[in-house]
Amino acid sequence: MNLPLIRMGVDIGGTKIAAIALDAHSGQAVKHSKISTPSDYPSLIKCLTELVFEYEKELGPVSYGMCYPGSVNQETQRVQNANILWLNDKAFEQDLAKALQRPIRTGNDANCFTLSEAIDGAGKGYSVVFGATLGTGLGGGIVIDQKILVGLNRLGGEWGHVPIPWPTAREIPGPECYCGLKGCLESYLSGTGLARSYRHVTGKALRSEQVIELANQGDPDAEAALSRYENRMARACAMIINILDPDVIVLGGGLSALKRLYLNVPKQWDQYIFSPQAVKTKLLQAAHGAESGVRGAARLW
Ligand SMILES: [Zn+2]
Repeated sequence: MNLPLIRMGVDIGGTKIAAIALDAHSGQAVKHSKISTPSDYPSLIKCLTELVFEYEKELGPVSYGMCYPGSVNQETQRVQNANILWLNDKAFEQDLAKALQRPIRTGNDANCFTLSEAIDGAGKGYSVVFGATLGTGLGGGIVIDQKILVGLNRLGGEWGHVPIPWPTAREIPGPECYCGLKGCLESYLSGTGLARSYRHVTGKALRSEQVIELANQGDPDAEAALSRYENRMARACAMIINILDPDVIVLGGGLSALKRLYLNVPKQWDQYIFSPQAVKTKLLQAAHGAESGVRGAARLW
């Protein structure tokens, strides 16, 4: 099969659908758009189909890659774990491939993020890239030589529900997580986790952005919450380095804009890493920001 020269990527979110078309050779975006996510399944299929027709009318044939918040159950071939609830139990990928009359490729958003950053983002030129998305949740992905390590159980890079390593006395047993376990990294390193850590000490419920803003103004409690966050991130990254030994760890999502992480986290991680000399692993901010997910979806082909 001759692959079209335009790679279309679509990132389906709870409120918005982002689409992009990349030139296969240059990697340049030749078109992008954003629309509201429809509120039911038939409308979603219709809207995704129309989007492809709109792109092809303007650009010629496109390949189709997509990320969405959920995965396909390997036994039933139906969607599971989607936070767009009506998407669960639908044969989404088959229905869409049929409507689009072409094969489609899908990946989870953290994997697509990592792929995009490994190909032409902050991880460009490196062989082993670990990508982490610090948002409402904590996602992770592994890309080796520009290929996603999906894994037998599709769990490659999923570090969000691993317990925090080298826990302090006050971190045991750790907060309860919706996954059923306690002390998961997601409970500490997501934006929600930072907000919870601040609330735990001060009793004040603020959003993570507000905690960061307060720390910038010199508030000692907010500063302490950020320091705890950095030390926890250093331990979590040290665990990844001990196992995977990536060339680079790329951070995306809202909290990745926090510049001090890139200085303060590597400063602390050596003490946890099984290496007599300072490790060379780099910790870098994503180059494509919020666009990495949709760019990575386009790069699935
Ligand atoms: Zn968990």
